[in-house]
Amino acid sequence: MVIVMQEGASDAQIQQVIDRLIASGFNVHRSTGESHTVLGAVGVHRDFDHRDFELLDGVREVMRITQPFKLASRQFRPEGTIIDLGRGVKIGGPDVVIAAGPCSIESPEQINSIAESIAKSGAKILRGGAFKPRTSPYAFQGLGEKGLEMMKTAAEKHGLFTVSEVMDLSQIPMMSGYVDMFQVGARNMQNYFLLRALGETRKPVLLKRGMSATMEELLLSAEYMLAGGNFNVALCERGIRTFETYTRNTFDIAAIPVIKKLSHLPMMADPSHGTGRRDKVAPMARAAVAAGADGLLIEVHNDPDHALSDGAQSLDPAQFDQLMRELRIIAPAIGRTMAA
Ligand code: PEP
Ligand code: MN
Repeated sequence: MVIVMQEGASDAQIQQVIDRLIASGFNVHRSTGESHTVLGAVGVHRDFDHRDFELLDGVREVMRITQPFKLASRQFRPEGTIIDLGRGVKIGGPDVVIAAGPCSIESPEQINSIAESIAKSGAKILRGGAFKPRTSPYAFQGLGEKGLEMMKTAAEKHGLFTVSEVMDLSQIPMMSGYVDMFQVGARNMQNYFLLRALGETRKPVLLKRGMSATMEELLLSAEYMLAGGNFNVALCERGIRTFETYTRNTFDIAAIPVIKKLSHLPMMADPSHGTGRRDKVAPMARAAVAAGADGLLIEVHNDPDHALSDGAQSLDPAQFDQLMRELRIIAPAIGRTMAA
């Protein structure tokens, strides 16, 4: 249930509603918008009549949220969520924010060279895996904490923020010192212990759609973190598994407008894992921005043919730069901006 308070409702009136909700067995999440406060009430509760709340002083409107995701629903924050990373970089605002970098961090030279080129092209976030969820236990597993250190050094040198995948909740405290945003990978989208632990932090999270997850399941996974109080969650379409084999995954572009309507959370897209092929990344990246994505996650490597993972879907720096030029033309056509 969502309770919209009247514009100018007093703190005492808001508190009275909160007390009443808690007494009825709800957990209450308060969202203070520019003009009015919205209270989200969720949880296991006794039978109640939502009209009782309409009568309380200062209440403008009471809405029942019929969708299974509550705090993630657009009704809870009609104006949308903006994740503020600092230095003017905001995901979910007018700017389309680009995160780019290698699939895996491989060496200080590699990550520094990539950071330098993507920063020049206008990316704001450096991506790079240090803990890799590889299908085979014999494939390169990532450099771990050493890799994160390399990434942080490169990012700081070139004025970038960082995002890297967390695979287990035991890694959260250590990784917090290195990353500005945690990535939850497709394979971990339904690792509910991990999601709950990330809900206890306030660090931004990039939650990728599982390869066989519905949009509703993605939103319910986000709900785990929102329920813990962490609203700094961005979602990411990265392709789903279908019967098609020409592409690595089927990039579900329709998920972008669908989720943006259902939820207030920023929606990003990853055309690299979405297609698995370098020559398909730019067309799908352009399509994702045209479809309203709030940001992109793109794999870029200084030497894609010798990358330790996902070289086939990695752009080289020149290809990435060309793509960024194209995106800067597309974004304004749909009322968005892209920082130079
Ligand atoms: C990645 O971004 O490197 C990655 C492993 O992605 P996904 O979890 O979407 O497969
Ligand atoms: Mn990858």
